[in-house]
Amino acid sequence: MLSPAPVRLLSTLSKRKMSSPPKDITIIGGGIIGCCTAYFLTRHPSYSPETHRITLLEASTSNAGGRTPDSITDPATLADPETASKRNPAHDGIAGGASGKAGGLLALWAFPQSIVPLSFKLHDELAKEYGGDKRWGYRRCYASQIDCQARLPPGFSSNGTNGKDTGETDPVSSGAEHGSKGLHKDHKKEIKALQKLGAPEDLDWLDTEEALTAYEGMGTPENTAQVHPELFTRSMAQLAEEKGVKIVTGARVTSINKTADGKSVESVTYEKDGKEERLPTTDCVVAAGPWTRRLLPEIPVTAARAHSVVIKTPKPVSAYALFTSIMLPVGFPTPTPKDSRGAPGAQRPLRGQQIVEPEIYARPDGTAYACGPTDDIVELPQTTAEVEVDVARCEDIIYQVGGISDDLGKDGQVLAKQACYLPQGGPYIGPVGHTKGLVVAAGHTCWGIQNAPATGKLVSEIILDGKPKSARLGGCDPSLVL
Ligand SMILES: Cc1cc2nc3c(=O)[nH]c(=O)nc-3n(C[C@H](O)[C@H](O)[C@H](O)COP(=O)(O)OP(=O)(O)OC[C@H]3O[C@@H](n4cnc5c(N)ncnc54)[C@H](O)[C@@H]3O)c2cc1C
Repeated sequence: MLSPAPVRLLSTLSKRKMSSPPKDITIIGGGIIGCCTAYFLTRHPSYSPETHRITLLEASTSNAGGRTPDSITDPATLADPETASKRNPAHDGIAGGASGKAGGLLALWAFPQSIVPLSFKLHDELAKEYGGDKRWGYRRCYASQIDCQARLPPGFSSNGTNGKDTGETDPVSSGAEHGSKGLHKDHKKEIKALQKLGAPEDLDWLDTEEALTAYEGMGTPENTAQVHPELFTRSMAQLAEEKGVKIVTGARVTSINKTADGKSVESVTYEKDGKEERLPTTDCVVAAGPWTRRLLPEIPVTAARAHSVVIKTPKPVSAYALFTSIMLPVGFPTPTPKDSRGAPGAQRPLRGQQIVEPEIYARPDGTAYACGPTDDIVELPQTTAEVEVDVARCEDIIYQVGGISDDLGKDGQVLAKQACYLPQGGPYIGPVGHTKGLVVAAGHTCWGIQNAPATGKLVSEIILDGKPKSARLGGCDPSLVL
C-alpha cells in the first residue's frame, strides 16, 4: 500500500501539471536544433502531453538531397547494421541539411562560451542515458592541428604535363597561396609560434614520415568529443516522438500568423502535398537553420554552402579531429576556385604551390569524414532536398586528404559526396521582439552540433518557465540585434 506522503506528492504534481496553461507549440525545422528543442520540451518537468501539444514541421521528405546518387543513404547501417536502423527510424527529411552532413565535433573550447559548457555536459549525459556510443557514435577524442606537404595523386606529375592539363592559365596559384580556409579556422593558432610536440604514435593513418611537417595538440578527451550528427539528430527526433511530439515531414511553413492585435502568435501556415494547412499555435520556435531569414527577415542568419565526403578506411582509424594546413605541390589538381563552379574530372595541374585546409574527423564506424571550404555561388534552394552538389569540390577534398594519407586515399573507399548550407551569424536563441510566443533558435555557425542540446534546453525553459534558467543567453539573445 502506498503511504500517504507519496499519494499527496503525486496529487500535487498532477495538479501542477493540470494548472500549467495549455500550449500549442510548433517547431519549424527538423535539423538538430529543432529536434533537440522537441526532446528537451518533452523532458521539462512542467511538460504534460495532456496540456501541451507539440508539432515539429520539416519541409523535406528526403535525406537524399545534397548527396550524389552513388552515396550511401543510411549511415545507421554502417554504425550498427543489426539494430541501428530499428532504433532510429529514418524519418526521411529529418537531418537532411547541415545537421546530417556536419563533422560532429564537440568541444569545451568551442564558442559561444555562455552555452558551450552546458551543451558539452548535456551531450555527455545524453550519451550515458541512451547508449550514445552505439546509437550515435559518441566518443571522446583528440583534436590537433597539422601542417602537411601533399604528394601528387596518381596521373599527375610535377611538370604539369599529364593528361589532366586543360592548357588554361591558373588564376590562383602563384607561389604558396592560401587557397581556402577551414570552417573552424578561428581556433587555429599560429603553428610556428607553438612548440612542436611531434605526432602521437597512434596517428598511424596519416603518412607522418612523408607528409607531416608540424603537429600541435589542441584538444584532449577531457575537453573534446564527437557524435555522428545525422544519427544523433534522428535519435533526438525519435526520443521526442516517443513522449508525444508529432513529426510532420514534407511540411514547409510559409507564414507565422499573429492575432488581430499583432501581439501574439496565433497559427502557422504550411504547404504539404500541394495543399495549404493552418496549425493553431501559441508558441512557435523557428529552428530553420540557414532558411530562418525567409520566415524572420529581422534575424540576420546567412547561409554558405560547404562540401564534404565520407571515406571508408581499410581499418578503423584512431580518434582524432585534424585541422589541416596542406601545402599542395606544383602539378597537384587545382582546387575549384571559391567563386566558380567546378568541372568534375577536369582539374588542371597547379602551376604554383597552394595551401588548403580541409578538416578530417575519424569516426568510430570505420570511416573518416572530411570537409572543405565554403562557397556562395549557388543560392540557398527552397528545401534540403534541392541542394546542389558540385562533384568537383568533393573531388578536391578527396585528392587533398588522399595526398597525406593512403588510408583516406588509394586504400579508402568514398561512401558519400555531399553538400549542405552552413547557417551563419548567430547563434540567436530567445524571444523575437515583442510578439508573445515567437522564439528563434538558429544561426549556429560551425558549432551547431556542439551547441544543440543547450539550445534545446534553454528554449524549453523560455517556453515553459518564461525565461532561460540553465545558462545565460549572453550574446545569443536576439534582442541584441533587434
Ligand atoms: C561542413 C560542415 C561541418 C560542420 N561541422 C560541425 C562540427 O564538427 N561541430 C559542430 O558543432 N557543428 C558543425 N557544423 C555546424 C552544424 O552542422 C550546424 O550549425 C547545425 O547543423 C545547424 O542546425 P540547424 O538545425 O539550425 O539547421 P539545419 O540542419 O539546416 O536544419 C534546418 C531544417 O529546417 C528545415 N526548414 C527550413 N525552412 C523550413 C520551413 N519553412 N518549414 C519547415 N522546415 C523548414 C530545413 O529543411 C532543415 O531540415 C558543420 C557545418 C557544416 C556545413
